[in-house]
Amino acid sequence: MTTAPSETTQHETFLRETLALARESLKQGSSPIGALLVDKNGQIVARGRNRTGEPQTAERVGDASVAHAEMDVFFQAGKLENPQELTLYSSLEPCLMCGGASALLEVGRIVWATADPWGGAGRLLAWSNHPAMQEIEIVPCPFPELETEGASLFAPEAKKAFPDKGWALWRKKYPAETEGI
Ligand SMILES: [Zn+2]
Repeated sequence: MTTAPSETTQHETFLRETLALARESLKQGSSPIGALLVDKNGQIVARGRNRTGEPQTAERVGDASVAHAEMDVFFQAGKLENPQELTLYSSLEPCLMCGGASALLEVGRIVWATADPWGGAGRLLAWSNHPAMQEIEIVPCPFPELETEGASLFAPEAKKAFPDKGWALWRKKYPAETEGI
């Protein structure tokens, strides 16, 4: 894969912002995950973060297990124009729901900071026989430093929210970041 320097810079800038949004979620009592939708010119179309622990409002999804960061972004963005030209950035590898929604909406590309070895849908997006999923370009964990930051941020939630075998996968994938949790 060839990635132009400007594109690399853009990935880094936006992934850092998803991590900042993730920290805001944690502060507000939700799970630490943030997401952005960005157009081909590098303009942010919508910002979102996990809101599962917060009340639902007229403006924002919330107070529901499906109030994931990527769903918040998609609700904010409304009807998408030229979705194939959009990139979804997330601090964590999207789950089946959010990966599926991205395929349904025909988002062109998904970039995430940290893998989710239990709940992530990246494998499905990459290997699925579903034609809409094959249309999505995926860029998993392009920056080791940000991957580590995201893993440390989400690790306590992974232990709390996932079954033992899910947590075991996290321990295996991110031994340093899950140590002592
Ligand atoms: Zn999700």
